[in-house]
Amino acid sequence: MRRAPLLAVVALVAAVTLPSAGAAPKANERVLVVLASTGSRPYTVADVQQAFAQTNAFLQRASFGQVHLDSDVTPWLTGLTAKPSCGANDGSVDSIFEPARREAAGAGFDAAGYDTVVYEFPDARCGFFGATFGRQIMLTREPTVDLLAHELGHTFGLGHAMGADCVDYLRCALEDTGDTLSPMGSGSLDYSAYEKSLLGWIPAQPRVTAPRSYVLAPPTGRSKLAQALVVETSRGTWWIEYRAQPFRGLVFRFVDAENHSAPYDPSAILILKPTKHARPWIAKGESFRIPLSWRVTLAKVSATQATVRFR
Ligand SMILES: [Zn+2]
Repeated sequence: MRRAPLLAVVALVAAVTLPSAGAAPKANERVLVVLASTGSRPYTVADVQQAFAQTNAFLQRASFGQVHLDSDVTPWLTGLTAKPSCGANDGSVDSIFEPARREAAGAGFDAAGYDTVVYEFPDARCGFFGATFGRQIMLTREPTVDLLAHELGHTFGLGHAMGADCVDYLRCALEDTGDTLSPMGSGSLDYSAYEKSLLGWIPAQPRVTAPRSYVLAPPTGRSKLAQALVVETSRGTWWIEYRAQPFRGLVFRFVDAENHSAPYDPSAILILKPTKHARPWIAKGESFRIPLSWRVTLAKVSATQATVRFR
């Protein structure tokens, strides 16, 4: 779910359906987009097709060409007799989608032939823009790349990308979608190295076990170098990645061993202020002390790699 202001709705949805944890995306993800309303056509089919084309470009870039989104968009199907509900009390979310799916079938689109179905319900009055139920996505507003990358991420099994100034929860508030870089949070830069590892887009990454320097490449292309450095602590696992665009900096995320993001993959928490500066990365020459563990310094940077020192 993306930016859901109504906790009651979230609770309802959570109580109704535990979406089956998603599956990593296929090389060719087939998506059916059903535009269904009680009569309105608030945006055009061409606008929706463009949003999906841009999302395909985003996913192809993020996955280094390993995932392609192949989407079919229905015409506006304006025969719904009631506004879609935002959840279902009887335990079957399918009742939300069934009328629109029937309309789509009548227009020649068989939902069963697709990996994921996105339902555009502009008439729904819900406390969220998007919600994902297994392999079915419900959107209540015009699709954007950020919204689609977020909800599709849920269908792939990803949980929310969280954010906090520090991981001492007594001192620093934890924001559910507070990661300002990942679309699984509130960002639009790219999926994190941690998320790409979960999705199988980058291979297993090295564990830091000794005080020395490491060379790290950004997780934005295929590389034989490390694309993340992983630090295990008694409280959880740290994922450190280097970004060369649009900033050159080292980004720190923490996966708490006691996280509660099931049925999705464990969420990572982006450290929003690893230094006194108001930015979620450390720049060349700066250091960050991992609680109870290493002091990490970004020693050298270039467009293609960085040198990171652990003391
Ligand atoms: Zn979400």
